[in-house]
Amino acid sequence: MNHIQGSLLYEGKAKRVFACENPNRVLIEFKNDATAFNAKKRSEIEGKGRLNCKISSALFELLESNGIPTHFLELHSETLMFAEKINVIPLEVVIRNIATGSLCRETPINEGTILTPPLLEFYYKDDKLGDPILTERRLKLLDLISPSQKEEVENITKRSNTILKEYFDSLDLLLVDFKLEFGLNSLGKLVIADEISPDNCRFWDKTNSDPKGRILDKDRFRQDLGGVIDAYEEILKRIEKDLSHAS
Ligand code: UDP
Repeated sequence: MNHIQGSLLYEGKAKRVFACENPNRVLIEFKNDATAFNAKKRSEIEGKGRLNCKISSALFELLESNGIPTHFLELHSETLMFAEKINVIPLEVVIRNIATGSLCRETPINEGTILTPPLLEFYYKDDKLGDPILTERRLKLLDLISPSQKEEVENITKRSNTILKEYFDSLDLLLVDFKLEFGLNSLGKLVIADEISPDNCRFWDKTNSDPKGRILDKDRFRQDLGGVIDAYEEILKRIEKDLSHAS
């Protein structure tokens, strides 16, 4: 990795973050490592880093072009992107359009139920604690964000959902749910951080009615369905086809 100059600032499950000459910037490397169930299940999936880096860049650009603040600056290469250096807020903000996953495991809500309005939930980002879901009162008690920042996080998440849902709909994909992370940049501005990819979004293919066959995201890995990389390739293929029409 001789093209990466700066020192390693942080290594997570799916990414490495390197320092840049400009102290307000970092270089994020997307790894091929896949983990699920709080890293109890692990694997290396050749090509995943490249796909998630490209998909995330395209989606961050889409959000930015709609006035949504993100940490994304520019693509460096196939698996690397420049981003603003931020202080990550240890929250996972999940928004759901269709019920599945933990919502259906933990409540009597049926799989596939359309959620109107979409359900927005906060989780505390801590692997050791198993990323527990937070009640409004626990969120307030933890004091990780001010009430006005909470409102901003909710607004950004809802607006992002509206934009992304409509976009994926036009690519014949249902955006089932996704998770966002937030941070504060050097100016103290709240921005979307991390990534937006099939690792943290659920996509169902509208052209396939088979409940397993339609899954085009990390659930293929979580549920041992095979075809993980093909699913991620399909998401990028549809995005790139759309971009080639737009240009
Ligand atoms: N998610 C994530 N990281 C997590 C937990 C969830 O990116 O640590 C994403 C997941 O990919 C899905 C959404 O958040 O798009 C909702 O996940 P859910 O709560 O249903 O969790 P799961 O069923 O994966 O346990």
